[in-house]
Amino acid sequence: MSQHPSTASIPRLSFEFFPPRTEGGKASLGRVAEKLNQLQPAFFSCTYGAGGSTRDGTCETVKQLLDMGIDAAPHLSIGADDEQQTFALLDQYRDMGVRRIVALRGDLPSGMGRTRIVNNAESLVKRIRAHSGDHFQLEVAAYPETHPDARSPAEDLRFFSEKVNAGANGAITQYFFNPYAYFDFMDRCSQAGIDVPIVPGILPITNYEGLIRISEKCGADVPRWLRKRLEELQEDEAGLKSFGVDVITRLCEDLLAAGAPGLHFYTLNRWGASLAVCKNLGHWA
Ligand code: FAD
Repeated sequence: MSQHPSTASIPRLSFEFFPPRTEGGKASLGRVAEKLNQLQPAFFSCTYGAGGSTRDGTCETVKQLLDMGIDAAPHLSIGADDEQQTFALLDQYRDMGVRRIVALRGDLPSGMGRTRIVNNAESLVKRIRAHSGDHFQLEVAAYPETHPDARSPAEDLRFFSEKVNAGANGAITQYFFNPYAYFDFMDRCSQAGIDVPIVPGILPITNYEGLIRISEKCGADVPRWLRKRLEELQEDEAGLKSFGVDVITRLCEDLLAAGAPGLHFYTLNRWGASLAVCKNLGHWA
C-alpha cells in the first residue's frame, strides 16, 4: 500500500447522516450529532436522496448542523437534476457557508430506470468546478471492491482516476469488511498515479438483516464467516452489537496501521456503535 502511517497528524474523522423525514427524526439527529461531535470530527456529511428526492431535506440537515457550529458537507448527486438546479444548490450552499461537498453520480429512485442516467460523477465534478471554481473541497466515491456497474476493476479504476483528474480533492470509499480490498485498491491507485487521500468508509455493524439487505443493494461483500456469526447472533441484540464493535474496531485498526488517512462512518443516524469504535481506537477526544 502506498500511503504510510502518519506520525504527525491525527487521522481525519467524519460521520455521515441521511436527512430525517420527521420532526422526531430531526430532534434525534441533533442529539446524535452532539454525541459524535465530542470526538471533534473534521466534518459531518449528509446524503442526497436518489434522484434529488431529498434536496430540501439535505439542505435542512446541513443547516441544522451548521447552526450547531458543526462543519457540514452535503452530498450532491446528478441524479435527475439539470444543470440549473445544480447551480442553484451550489450557490445556496456557498451562501450558507458550506466549504465541502461529496460529489456523486447518485443512485436513481426505484422505478426511474437507468436510461435516465446521462452523466457520471466526473461530469458533476467538472460542473461544480466550472460554476464554483475552487470554493468547495470536493470528495468523490471510490470502490475498493469494484462498483457493481463496472465491467472490470481496471475500468472502474480508470473512471475513478478520471473524476479525480476532473478536480476532486479526495475520496471516500464504499464500505467493506476485508481490509485487503482497500490495500489492493490503494496499491492500484498508486500505480495509476492517483495521489489524493482516499478515506475508508466504515459501516458499524448493529443488525443482521439490515446489513445483508443494504450490502446486496450496494454490492458490498459480507464474508461468509461474518455472515454466519451475525446470523447466529441475530436474536441476541447486545451480543451482536458487542461483536460488531469488536469486528469494526479491528478492521479500523488494520486500516489505520497500514496508513489509511482517516475514517468515514456511515452512522445511519445513530451514535452508539460509531462512538464505541472510535473510543476503542483512541485517536480522538
Ligand atoms: P461514478 O463514479 O460516476 O460511476 C460509478 C461507476 O460507474 C464507476 O465506478 C464506473 O465503473 C462506472 N462508470 C462511470 N462513468 C462511466 C461511463 N462514462 N461509462 C461507463 N461506466 C461508467 N448515492 C446517493 O444517491 N446519494 C448519496 O448521498 C450517496 N452518497 C454516497 C457516498 C459515498 C461515500 C459512496 C461510496 C456512495 C454514495 N452513494 C450515494 C452511492 C452512489 O451514488 C452510487 O454508488 C452510484 O451508483 C455511483 O455513484 P458514483 O458517484 O460513484 O458514480
